[in-house]
Amino acid sequence: MSFENLNLHPLILKAVIDSGYTIPTPVQAQAIPELIAGHDIMASAQTGTGKTAAFMLPALHRLATPSQVHSRGPRVLVLTPTRELALQVSEAAAKYGKHLPRAKVVSILGGMPYPLQNKLLSQPVDILVATPGRLIDHIQRGRIDFSRLEMLVLDEADRMLDMGFIDDVERIASATPANRQTLLFSATLDSAIDKVAARLLKSPKRIQIATQQARLDNIEQRLHYVDDMSHKNRLLDHLLRDMALKQAIVFTATKRDADMLADNLAAQGHEAAALHGDMNQRDRTRTLTRLRHGGLRVLVATDVAARGIDVVGITHVINFDLPKFAEDYVHRIGRTGRAGASGIAVSFASGKDGVNLKKIERFTGQRIASHVVPGLEPRFKPRPVTGGTSRTTPSVAHKRNRTWSNDSGRHATGANSANGNWGDSRSRSFSDNRENTRGNAGGNTFRNSGVPSPYIRSK
Ligand code: AMP
Repeated sequence: MSFENLNLHPLILKAVIDSGYTIPTPVQAQAIPELIAGHDIMASAQTGTGKTAAFMLPALHRLATPSQVHSRGPRVLVLTPTRELALQVSEAAAKYGKHLPRAKVVSILGGMPYPLQNKLLSQPVDILVATPGRLIDHIQRGRIDFSRLEMLVLDEADRMLDMGFIDDVERIASATPANRQTLLFSATLDSAIDKVAARLLKSPKRIQIATQQARLDNIEQRLHYVDDMSHKNRLLDHLLRDMALKQAIVFTATKRDADMLADNLAAQGHEAAALHGDMNQRDRTRTLTRLRHGGLRVLVATDVAARGIDVVGITHVINFDLPKFAEDYVHRIGRTGRAGASGIAVSFASGKDGVNLKKIERFTGQRIASHVVPGLEPRFKPRPVTGGTSRTTPSVAHKRNRTWSNDSGRHATGANSANGNWGDSRSRSFSDNRENTRGNAGGNTFRNSGVPSPYIRSK
């Protein structure tokens, strides 16, 4: 299957070729013909699968033919859960529609000034990309004319459901013409999504794209057990010194943690900045632009803010805190390995994360191999070190020590090389106690680092 076989308008095909795409991704190959034929669709496809072009190319194809209705309102409406995703969809629309004479794209996002949005909405619009809350405001104020709306796209519908936007989405849908074409994209198609689809779509074609597992194939997942905050910080510092790390997104549990960690990293000389929902849109856009242009090496972010970020240079995702929901894990690590590249996803897990970790592994169907960094071994280690599951991550420190290790004849390979490099009482207690990590090994962590260990307290 090639793009030429999809019967897209020649000016759209030209833009696709300009983008460097040669063959349609599976979701594009399946969705585009159904959409051009006028069907509603519900598709299980996540970011990274090429889903944006899967709906945007047929949307633009519609715009290539003038509307029969006399109005200045949008002909295509895309609803997204986050501002970042909305901006990415808008960029994609502009990119694929650049050769068309009538493909004016407007984004209406929360956190942006109303006067500018009012002005944009008073002019002719072809494609409107919006987050639901702000769009409802404008609808209530009578600022949007949906009389010529032909296509409604619900992007990341599962997320809109999770974030409590679905009532707003349904209200918006009810303000649009009943004969519209409706598209729903979601990471998973479960019963909650089915209910939404039953209310908003007409006899939709179901499109099921690659399982989670297939999608994660190009991402190497690693796990580091951590004893405490100081251990996390030292491991992070170590990871960020790796020259193979070009750009990274570090995920924290809260906005406050994101700010604090970004400040600490910046103070240590890293090109780091935070991205979270409490920042105003201008700062968020500025930070993302820096990331995109390579002016930022480390982005410290929360789940919602980072959703949908599509920056090809992201080589690493680091879960400084594990996410609460397994789905978020998949979304997070999908920020790396973009557009066919490979990526590395590193997760820190402490004693409290056991249940979460299991949920994530069940969801992805993949066990995450645990790694140790020489000199930064955890005292806490719930999984026994068995061949193949625990690995020593090649490290900057390790490379620096190589001469020393080789000279001393203590350099070992495989899971034991960490201990081989150190060979002191710390490594012995780690390896001796690996089945019983809350015993002496934990006590050593406490004494060696001078930081209170939560595992001692919980004993
Ligand atoms: P999405 O799933 O829409 O977030 O797209 C993921 C990435 O794939 C984006 O960087 C797109 O530019 C890229 N992309 C989309 N379609 C294709 C294609 N057919 N061939 C190569 N790259 C593509």
